[in-house]
Amino acid sequence: MKKGRRLVRPTHILLYAPEKTGALNLEESVDYLSSLLDKVKIEVRKDFISHSLEGTAPEQKEGFIARLAHDLARTKVRNILKPDFSFPPLYGEIRYEEERIREPGSKPSGIFYDGFQLQEVFWSLIPREEANLNHMHIIFTGQLVGTWDEDDLKYHARTSIYGYPNILSTTGLVEAPAKPREYYLLKQQIPAAVLDEVAILALKEKLKGRFLDYDDPGTTEVMKGYVAQALVGQATGFPFCQDVNCRLFNAHWQEEMLQAQLKSDYEFCPYHNEILEEIKRQAAIITNNQ
Ligand SMILES: [Zn+2]
Repeated sequence: MKKGRRLVRPTHILLYAPEKTGALNLEESVDYLSSLLDKVKIEVRKDFISHSLEGTAPEQKEGFIARLAHDLARTKVRNILKPDFSFPPLYGEIRYEEERIREPGSKPSGIFYDGFQLQEVFWSLIPREEANLNHMHIIFTGQLVGTWDEDDLKYHARTSIYGYPNILSTTGLVEAPAKPREYYLLKQQIPAAVLDEVAILALKEKLKGRFLDYDDPGTTEVMKGYVAQALVGQATGFPFCQDVNCRLFNAHWQEEMLQAQLKSDYEFCPYHNEILEEIKRQAAIITNNQ
């Protein structure tokens, strides 16, 4: 790392729980961040939408819900081959979002949102005093987010959307990086008539350990790498690494993700070790000066 490089280091980290409790252990995520950042203030909050709703004055709640439901319904990806958000959301879509706002854990995930638009909606809900570089917001969600890819002209699911705020998707960890090629080949060989849940389970069993599944006990450990990416992203402007064994590797395959997060002999490459040491040192200086 060049001497004197300026790192943007947060002094407060705000973690928002996923809508439903699942395999992600938030306490472990807090411990991990504490180990990376030493002395930085970390606060765990409810899921982001419930937290925002709670911070709204009682007389403004209904207006807030109506506006937010509309905004969320607008960010839904309707066609993975076309990024078109010009037409207004349907009544049923708005109602669905309204119900989810009132009871975030009540509905299964499954809607695919445009990650950058969702990030904008979430950013607009963060109060002014927390909307600055001293605060790092990490929103865990079970919802699936994606981004439009200019190269192959379609939407791709993502594990994470970095920036203000960071959005990390537990569903994305399962759905975004591709499973081993064998999985798709073997799946193709199963006749449609017998392709049911049992057949999929048998297929998953065959390739066990080569991809992350829903409620996988490895979820928290894998997510640590994405938390570290968010931190390095905020500090340096770039969350990723080229080293397949560094936790900051931007994995496109499940096997790459598991290699970087679970199987590698080291956590970070020498370059990122140095960056993280520097972030930690500066964070400690700031905390001591407060
Ligand atoms: Zn690295």
